Amino acid sequence: MTTKQQLDEIRSLTARIGRPVRLMEVCGTHTMSAFRSGLRSLLPPSVTLLSGPGCPVCVTSNAYLDRAIALARRPGTMVATFGDMIRVPGTETSLERARAEGAQVRVVYSALDALKMARENPRAEVIFLGVGFETTVPGTAWALREARERVPNFRVLCAHKTMPHAMAALLRGGELRIDGFICPGHVSVIIGSQAYEFICRDFGTPCVVTGFEGADMLAGIAMLLRQLAESRAEVEIQYTRTVRREGNARARDVMNEVFRESDETWRGLGLIPRSGLAIRSRFAEHDAAVRFNDVAVPVPVEPKGCACGDVLRGSKTPRECPLFRKTCTPDHPVGACMVSSEGTCAAYYRYE
Ligand code: SF4
Repeated sequence: MTTKQQLDEIRSLTARIGRPVRLMEVCGTHTMSAFRSGLRSLLPPSVTLLSGPGCPVCVTSNAYLDRAIALARRPGTMVATFGDMIRVPGTETSLERARAEGAQVRVVYSALDALKMARENPRAEVIFLGVGFETTVPGTAWALREARERVPNFRVLCAHKTMPHAMAALLRGGELRIDGFICPGHVSVIIGSQAYEFICRDFGTPCVVTGFEGADMLAGIAMLLRQLAESRAEVEIQYTRTVRREGNARARDVMNEVFRESDETWRGLGLIPRSGLAIRSRFAEHDAAVRFNDVAVPVPVEPKGCACGDVLRGSKTPRECPLFRKTCTPDHPVGACMVSSEGTCAAYYRYE
Protein backbone atom coordinates (compact mmCIF):
# COMPACT_ATOMS: atom_id res chain seq x y z
CA MET A 1 0.00 0.00 0.00
CA THR A 2 1.36 3.47 -0.83
CA THR A 3 1.64 6.18 1.81
CA LYS A 4 -1.21 8.06 0.14
CA GLN A 5 -3.48 5.00 0.24
CA GLN A 6 -2.53 4.43 3.88
CA LEU A 7 -3.37 8.03 4.77
CA ASP A 8 -6.69 7.79 2.88
CA GLU A 9 -7.52 4.67 4.90
CA ILE A 10 -6.59 6.42 8.16
CA ARG A 11 -8.87 9.34 7.26
CA SER A 12 -11.76 7.04 6.43
CA LEU A 13 -11.27 5.03 9.66
CA THR A 14 -11.20 8.17 11.82
CA ALA A 15 -14.44 9.31 10.13
CA ARG A 16 -15.99 5.91 10.99
CA ILE A 17 -14.82 6.15 14.62
CA GLY A 18 -16.33 9.62 14.83
CA ARG A 19 -14.52 10.91 17.93
CA PRO A 20 -11.00 12.04 18.85
CA VAL A 21 -8.53 9.16 19.26
CA ARG A 22 -5.47 9.14 21.51
CA LEU A 23 -2.78 6.58 20.75
CA MET A 24 0.30 6.17 22.89
CA GLU A 25 3.67 5.35 21.37
CA VAL A 26 5.19 3.61 24.34
CA CYS A 27 8.77 3.57 23.13
CA GLY A 28 11.18 6.50 22.86
CA THR A 29 12.43 5.23 19.51
CA HIS A 30 8.88 5.53 18.15
CA THR A 31 8.66 9.07 19.50
CA MET A 32 11.83 10.02 17.65
CA SER A 33 10.73 8.22 14.47
CA ALA A 34 7.33 9.95 14.47
CA PHE A 35 9.04 13.33 14.59
CA ARG A 36 11.82 12.48 12.16
CA SER A 37 9.41 11.16 9.52
CA GLY A 38 6.95 14.07 9.89
CA LEU A 39 4.24 11.55 10.74
CA ARG A 40 2.52 13.75 13.29
CA SER A 41 1.77 16.42 10.72
CA LEU A 42 0.27 13.85 8.30
CA LEU A 43 -2.30 12.44 10.70
CA PRO A 44 -5.86 13.83 10.85
CA PRO A 45 -6.36 16.37 13.68
CA SER A 46 -8.61 13.90 15.50
CA VAL A 47 -5.67 11.49 16.02
CA THR A 48 -3.30 12.47 18.84
CA LEU A 49 -0.04 10.67 19.48
CA LEU A 50 0.93 10.62 23.17
CA SER A 51 4.52 9.88 24.13
CA GLY A 52 4.86 7.22 26.79
CA PRO A 53 7.37 6.04 29.39
CA GLY A 54 9.57 4.00 27.04
CA CYS A 55 12.83 5.91 27.32
CA PRO A 56 14.94 3.86 29.76
CA VAL A 57 17.18 6.70 30.90
CA CYS A 58 14.19 9.03 31.43
CA VAL A 59 12.27 6.65 33.70
CA THR A 60 15.26 5.83 35.90
CA SER A 61 14.56 7.39 39.28
CA ASN A 62 16.68 10.03 40.97
CA ALA A 63 17.10 7.70 43.97
CA TYR A 64 18.85 5.18 41.71
CA LEU A 65 20.97 7.85 40.05
CA ASP A 66 22.02 9.28 43.42
CA ARG A 67 23.12 5.80 44.53
CA ALA A 68 25.11 5.34 41.31
CA ILE A 69 26.87 8.68 41.89
CA ALA A 70 27.66 7.76 45.50
CA LEU A 71 29.13 4.44 44.33
CA ALA A 72 31.22 6.16 41.64
CA ARG A 73 32.74 8.37 44.35
CA ARG A 74 33.61 5.37 46.50
CA PRO A 75 37.39 4.72 46.48
CA GLY A 76 38.36 1.66 44.44
CA THR A 77 35.11 1.63 42.45
CA MET A 78 34.53 2.20 38.74
CA VAL A 79 31.02 2.79 37.39
CA ALA A 80 30.31 1.70 33.81
CA THR A 81 27.22 3.01 32.04
CA PHE A 82 25.64 4.08 28.76
CA GLY A 83 26.49 7.55 27.43
CA ASP A 84 23.06 9.11 28.04
CA MET A 85 23.09 8.20 31.72
CA ILE A 86 26.09 10.28 32.67
CA ARG A 87 24.43 13.60 31.82
CA VAL A 88 21.17 13.06 33.72
CA PRO A 89 20.99 15.44 36.68
CA GLY A 90 20.52 13.66 40.00
CA THR A 91 19.48 15.35 43.24
CA GLU A 92 22.80 17.15 43.79
CA THR A 93 24.95 16.42 40.75
CA SER A 94 25.36 14.14 37.71
CA LEU A 95 27.74 11.27 36.97
CA GLU A 96 29.44 13.59 34.47
CA ARG A 97 30.14 16.24 37.09
CA ALA A 98 31.20 13.60 39.61
CA ARG A 99 33.66 12.31 37.01
CA ALA A 100 35.06 15.81 36.52
CA GLU A 101 35.66 15.86 40.28
CA GLY A 102 37.61 12.59 40.16
CA ALA A 103 35.02 9.81 40.34
CA GLN A 104 35.67 6.81 38.11
CA VAL A 105 32.87 6.79 35.52
CA ARG A 106 33.31 5.06 32.16
CA VAL A 107 30.97 4.97 29.16
CA VAL A 108 30.30 1.49 27.73
CA TYR A 109 28.03 0.18 24.98
CA SER A 110 26.94 -3.03 26.69
CA ALA A 111 27.12 -5.09 29.86
CA LEU A 112 29.75 -7.22 28.16
CA ASP A 113 31.99 -4.15 27.71
CA ALA A 114 31.69 -3.56 31.44
CA LEU A 115 32.53 -7.21 32.13
CA LYS A 116 35.65 -6.83 29.98
CA MET A 117 36.55 -3.73 31.99
CA ALA A 118 36.26 -5.76 35.20
CA ARG A 119 38.57 -8.43 33.80
CA GLU A 120 41.13 -5.77 32.84
CA ASN A 121 40.94 -4.05 36.25
CA PRO A 122 40.91 -6.93 38.73
CA ARG A 123 41.71 -4.68 41.72
CA ALA A 124 38.74 -2.37 41.10
CA GLU A 125 35.09 -2.99 41.90
CA VAL A 126 33.43 -2.50 38.49
CA ILE A 127 29.74 -1.64 38.75
CA PHE A 128 27.58 -1.76 35.64
CA LEU A 129 24.42 0.36 35.78
CA GLY A 130 21.70 -2.08 34.72
CA VAL A 131 19.07 0.21 33.23
CA GLY A 132 16.78 -0.48 30.30
CA PHE A 133 13.93 -2.71 29.28
CA GLU A 134 13.67 -6.31 28.12
CA THR A 135 15.92 -5.56 25.14
CA THR A 136 19.04 -5.03 27.25
CA VAL A 137 18.23 -7.42 30.10
CA PRO A 138 19.50 -10.63 28.42
CA GLY A 139 22.93 -9.00 27.97
CA THR A 140 23.10 -8.08 31.66
CA ALA A 141 21.94 -11.57 32.61
CA TRP A 142 24.60 -13.16 30.46
CA ALA A 143 27.31 -10.90 31.97
CA LEU A 144 26.20 -11.84 35.50
CA ARG A 145 26.33 -15.54 34.65
CA GLU A 146 29.86 -15.11 33.35
CA ALA A 147 30.87 -13.02 36.37
CA ARG A 148 29.63 -15.70 38.79
CA GLU A 149 31.99 -18.19 37.13
CA ARG A 150 35.04 -16.09 36.40
CA VAL A 151 34.90 -12.34 37.22
CA PRO A 152 34.53 -11.79 40.98
CA ASN A 153 34.88 -7.98 40.86
CA PHE A 154 31.93 -7.38 38.47
CA ARG A 155 28.71 -6.04 40.00
CA VAL A 156 25.40 -4.71 38.67
CA LEU A 157 23.31 -1.94 40.20
CA CYS A 158 19.99 -3.11 38.84
CA ALA A 159 17.09 -0.89 37.74
CA HIS A 160 15.93 -2.98 34.80
CA LYS A 161 12.27 -2.53 34.00
CA THR A 162 9.62 -4.40 32.07
CA MET A 163 7.07 -2.68 29.91
CA PRO A 164 3.64 -4.40 30.01
CA HIS A 165 2.78 -3.70 33.67
CA ALA A 166 3.79 -0.05 33.29
CA MET A 167 1.33 0.24 30.38
CA ALA A 168 -1.35 -1.35 32.54
CA ALA A 169 -0.54 1.11 35.36
CA LEU A 170 -1.18 4.03 33.00
CA LEU A 171 -4.61 2.63 32.15
CA ARG A 172 -5.38 1.79 35.77
CA GLY A 173 -4.44 5.31 36.89
CA GLY A 174 -7.18 6.66 34.60
CA GLU A 175 -5.48 10.06 34.47
CA LEU A 176 -5.83 10.19 30.71
CA ARG A 177 -7.72 8.23 28.09
CA ILE A 178 -5.53 5.99 25.95
CA ASP A 179 -7.41 4.39 23.06
CA GLY A 180 -4.58 2.15 21.85
CA PHE A 181 -0.93 1.31 22.30
CA ILE A 182 1.77 1.37 19.63
CA CYS A 183 3.84 -1.33 21.33
CA PRO A 184 7.64 -1.34 21.22
CA GLY A 185 9.17 -3.46 18.47
CA HIS A 186 12.53 -4.42 19.99
CA VAL A 187 11.18 -5.20 23.49
CA SER A 188 8.59 -7.43 21.82
CA VAL A 189 11.27 -9.42 20.01
CA ILE A 190 12.15 -10.79 23.46
CA ILE A 191 8.80 -10.92 25.29
CA GLY A 192 6.60 -11.68 22.26
CA SER A 193 3.25 -10.09 21.50
CA GLN A 194 1.62 -12.48 24.00
CA ALA A 195 2.92 -10.28 26.84
CA TYR A 196 0.31 -7.59 26.01
CA GLU A 197 -2.70 -9.89 25.78
CA PHE A 198 -3.80 -9.16 29.36
CA ILE A 199 -4.02 -5.44 28.47
CA CYS A 200 -6.60 -6.16 25.76
CA ARG A 201 -8.47 -8.60 27.98
CA ASP A 202 -8.50 -6.57 31.23
CA PHE A 203 -8.79 -3.03 29.86
CA GLY A 204 -10.25 -3.47 26.36
CA THR A 205 -7.37 -1.47 24.88
CA PRO A 206 -6.00 -2.53 21.48
CA CYS A 207 -2.26 -3.07 21.03
CA VAL A 208 -0.19 -3.23 17.84
CA VAL A 209 3.49 -4.19 17.94
CA THR A 210 5.03 -1.80 15.44
CA GLY A 211 8.35 -1.34 13.64
CA PHE A 212 10.37 1.85 13.70
CA GLU A 213 10.28 3.26 10.17
CA GLY A 214 7.75 6.00 9.42
CA ALA A 215 5.92 3.56 7.09
CA ASP A 216 5.78 0.95 9.87
CA MET A 217 4.25 3.46 12.25
CA LEU A 218 1.68 4.57 9.69
CA ALA A 219 0.68 0.92 9.15
CA GLY A 220 0.57 0.30 12.93
CA ILE A 221 -1.67 3.34 13.46
CA ALA A 222 -4.02 2.16 10.69
CA MET A 223 -4.24 -1.27 12.36
CA LEU A 224 -5.13 0.32 15.71
CA LEU A 225 -7.77 2.55 14.10
CA ARG A 226 -9.24 -0.46 12.29
CA GLN A 227 -9.62 -2.25 15.64
CA LEU A 228 -11.30 0.79 17.16
CA ALA A 229 -13.63 1.18 14.17
CA GLU A 230 -14.60 -2.51 14.49
CA SER A 231 -14.84 -2.36 18.33
CA ARG A 232 -12.08 -4.96 18.73
CA ALA A 233 -9.28 -5.04 21.31
CA GLU A 234 -6.57 -7.49 20.29
CA VAL A 235 -2.81 -7.71 20.08
CA GLU A 236 -1.70 -7.52 16.47
CA ILE A 237 1.79 -7.50 15.02
CA GLN A 238 2.73 -5.01 12.32
CA TYR A 239 6.45 -5.72 12.84
CA THR A 240 6.22 -9.28 11.52
CA ARG A 241 9.77 -9.03 10.18
CA THR A 242 11.13 -9.78 13.65
CA VAL A 243 8.37 -10.26 16.24
CA ARG A 244 6.49 -13.49 16.99
CA ARG A 245 3.71 -14.13 19.49
CA GLU A 246 5.99 -16.33 21.60
CA GLY A 247 9.04 -14.01 21.50
CA ASN A 248 12.55 -15.32 22.13
CA ALA A 249 12.27 -18.17 24.64
CA ARG A 250 16.03 -18.66 24.93
CA ALA A 251 16.66 -15.04 25.88
CA ARG A 252 13.84 -15.21 28.43
CA ASP A 253 15.32 -18.37 29.94
CA VAL A 254 18.64 -16.57 30.58
CA MET A 255 16.74 -13.59 32.05
CA ASN A 256 14.71 -15.84 34.33
CA GLU A 257 17.77 -17.70 35.53
CA VAL A 258 19.34 -14.46 36.80
CA PHE A 259 16.40 -12.14 37.55
CA ARG A 260 13.06 -12.42 39.30
CA GLU A 261 10.02 -10.21 38.87
CA SER A 262 9.90 -7.29 41.35
CA ASP A 263 8.11 -4.02 42.04
CA GLU A 264 10.01 -1.08 40.59
CA THR A 265 10.02 2.69 40.99
CA TRP A 266 9.67 4.67 37.76
CA ARG A 267 10.34 8.39 37.47
CA GLY A 268 6.95 10.05 37.14
CA LEU A 269 4.96 6.85 37.62
CA GLY A 270 6.04 5.87 41.12
CA LEU A 271 6.17 2.28 42.37
CA ILE A 272 4.58 -0.09 39.85
CA PRO A 273 3.95 -3.68 40.97
CA ARG A 274 5.63 -6.37 38.83
CA SER A 275 7.32 -3.84 36.52
CA GLY A 276 10.93 -4.52 37.46
CA LEU A 277 13.57 -7.19 37.70
CA ALA A 278 15.64 -7.96 40.79
CA ILE A 279 18.84 -10.00 40.81
CA ARG A 280 18.21 -13.47 42.26
CA SER A 281 19.82 -14.27 45.61
CA ARG A 282 22.25 -16.80 44.17
CA PHE A 283 23.87 -13.88 42.29
CA ALA A 284 23.82 -11.60 45.39
CA GLU A 285 27.60 -11.44 45.47
CA HIS A 286 27.37 -9.48 42.19
CA ASP A 287 24.43 -7.30 43.23
CA ALA A 288 25.85 -3.83 43.96
CA ALA A 289 22.77 -2.87 46.00
CA VAL A 290 23.44 -5.81 48.36
CA ARG A 291 27.22 -5.57 48.35
CA PHE A 292 27.39 -1.79 48.98
CA ASN A 293 24.24 -1.19 50.98
CA ASP A 294 25.99 1.25 53.31
CA VAL A 295 26.74 4.15 50.89
CA ALA A 296 25.23 7.45 51.98
CA VAL A 297 22.78 8.91 49.45
CA PRO A 298 20.84 12.18 49.62
CA VAL A 299 17.05 12.20 49.94
CA PRO A 300 15.99 12.26 46.27
CA VAL A 301 14.49 15.52 45.03
CA GLU A 302 13.17 16.25 41.52
CA PRO A 303 14.39 19.46 39.82
CA LYS A 304 12.12 22.41 40.69
CA GLY A 305 9.56 23.11 37.97
CA CYS A 306 10.50 20.06 35.87
CA ALA A 307 7.46 18.30 34.41
CA CYS A 308 9.24 15.07 33.42
CA GLY A 309 6.79 13.00 35.48
CA ASP A 310 3.77 14.40 33.60
CA VAL A 311 5.57 14.06 30.26
CA LEU A 312 6.39 10.41 30.96
CA ARG A 313 2.75 9.68 31.88
CA GLY A 314 1.62 11.37 28.65
CA SER A 315 -0.47 13.90 30.59
CA LYS A 316 1.61 16.91 29.46
CA THR A 317 3.64 17.71 26.38
CA PRO A 318 7.09 19.25 26.84
CA ARG A 319 5.67 22.56 25.59
CA GLU A 320 3.56 22.68 28.75
CA CYS A 321 6.67 22.58 30.95
CA PRO A 322 7.62 26.15 31.96
CA LEU A 323 11.32 25.33 31.66
CA PHE A 324 11.18 23.94 28.10
CA ARG A 325 13.55 25.81 25.76
CA LYS A 326 14.16 28.41 28.50
CA THR A 327 16.34 27.00 31.23
CA CYS A 328 16.09 23.40 29.94
CA THR A 329 17.86 22.65 26.65
CA PRO A 330 19.92 19.69 25.37
CA ASP A 331 23.12 21.60 26.25
CA HIS A 332 21.86 22.41 29.75
CA PRO A 333 19.26 19.76 30.60
CA VAL A 334 17.25 20.21 33.79
CA GLY A 335 15.38 16.92 33.54
CA ALA A 336 16.09 13.43 32.22
CA CYS A 337 13.65 13.74 29.27
CA MET A 338 15.87 16.43 27.72
CA VAL A 339 19.06 14.36 28.03
CA SER A 340 18.41 11.06 26.36
CA SER A 341 18.43 10.63 22.60
CA GLU A 342 15.06 8.90 23.11
CA GLY A 343 13.66 11.53 25.48
CA THR A 344 10.37 13.21 24.59
CA CYS A 345 11.60 16.70 25.49
CA ALA A 346 14.74 16.21 23.39
CA ALA A 347 12.53 15.10 20.46
CA TYR A 348 10.24 18.14 20.78
CA TYR A 349 13.26 20.44 21.09
CA ARG A 350 14.92 19.00 18.02
CA TYR A 351 11.99 18.56 15.67
CA GLU A 352 9.18 20.97 16.64
S1 SF4 B 1 11.62 20.48 29.42
FE1 SF4 B 1 13.24 19.84 30.83
S2 SF4 B 1 12.50 20.40 32.84
FE2 SF4 B 1 10.72 20.37 31.46
S3 SF4 B 1 9.87 18.32 31.58
FE3 SF4 B 1 11.32 18.31 29.91
S4 SF4 B 1 13.24 17.65 30.82
FE4 SF4 B 1 11.92 18.23 32.53
